[in-house]
Amino acid sequence: MKVPFVSFKPLEKELDTDLKAAFERVYNRSWYIEGEEDKAFEEAFAKFCNQKYCVGVGNGLDALMLVLRALEIGEGDEVIVPSNTYIATALAVTYVNANVVFVEPDLRTFNIDPSKIEEKITERTKAIIPVHLYGQPCDMDPIMEIAKKHNLYVIEDCAQAHGARYKGQVIGSFGEASGFSFYPGKNLGALGDAGAVVTNSKEIADKVRALGNYGSDYKYHHIYKGCNSRLDEMQAAFLAAKLPSLEKVNENRRAIANKYLEKINNPEVLLPYIPEGMEPVWHIFGIRCKRREELEKHLNENGISTNKHYPIPMHLQECYKDLGFHKGDFPIAEEISSTQLSIPIYYGMTDDETQYVIDTINSFK
Ligand SMILES: *Cc1c(COP(=O)(O)O)cnc(C)c1O
Repeated sequence: MKVPFVSFKPLEKELDTDLKAAFERVYNRSWYIEGEEDKAFEEAFAKFCNQKYCVGVGNGLDALMLVLRALEIGEGDEVIVPSNTYIATALAVTYVNANVVFVEPDLRTFNIDPSKIEEKITERTKAIIPVHLYGQPCDMDPIMEIAKKHNLYVIEDCAQAHGARYKGQVIGSFGEASGFSFYPGKNLGALGDAGAVVTNSKEIADKVRALGNYGSDYKYHHIYKGCNSRLDEMQAAFLAAKLPSLEKVNENRRAIANKYLEKINNPEVLLPYIPEGMEPVWHIFGIRCKRREELEKHLNENGISTNKHYPIPMHLQECYKDLGFHKGDFPIAEEISSTQLSIPIYYGMTDDETQYVIDTINSFK
């Protein structure tokens, strides 16, 4: 049996008529940037996130970068990010000329360890970017408490966690503003690049919108040195067609994840840990194994595609050489990057496929 790492086809087949209708609607109107599709999706997604405002942008990286700019975080400022995330989180900070400060994750949840944040705070610290990695919410109570105590902004990186909940509250509704990615592989994916910022602050929303539209508040009037990062009409229409299925998609991922959690019993494999009060949406199902390369080979040879999220931690990436870090500086991030393996999980994965992945992992010796 062959099991792909991810497939978009099951959902696309179900939504075939809606997606094609979305295309035709936009195409027949010949209106492609800043229009009613964008507005409609923004309203729907703000509601989904229980926030007052949503601003569609070009991608998830821009969403974070534009929030940082809107909050006037820049040169000389420090921003705390987990030492194990996709590089976009750190690059957003670098793009606004602020300094990234890495904080180690909890080895069991893969998310930023709140007990290690305070020791990294200086008088230059302006914000914390918790990343709800793999779709699992960060431990938001202590993070919000630390932020309040030290007067820091919280900007949630929700790129992997659309609809996840922490103690009943949907993620993306905790901090000043949150960034989402709709990269095709995310739980809510466009048919191309797209992203969004959600917030309860009109000021931040207006500023993000202006910054992403050449810094312009009205046509040919430029108040900021902005950039071009807008959600186009075609992607907004596709996203609006897919948003009503998001809860169903997350539910299906949860069912697959629960089977994995229940039935994978190879003693060499460490399963993800979900603390009380977390409702993850399983963007990624990440296991850990000391003999990761051998397990990966075993799975791949048996037709199961896998991935690593992420094989090189940020402090050891070539682009961050200038930070002067070495191997050993972030041992938990390094441990995760050398043992983590992501196994297939996607909407519409069949019971047979799921069982085959379980059996193949359990037969690894
Ligand atoms: C995907 C991702 C991003 C960036 O989103 P893009 O739309 O690809 O720019 C940011 N942070 C995390 C954690 C991601 O997984």
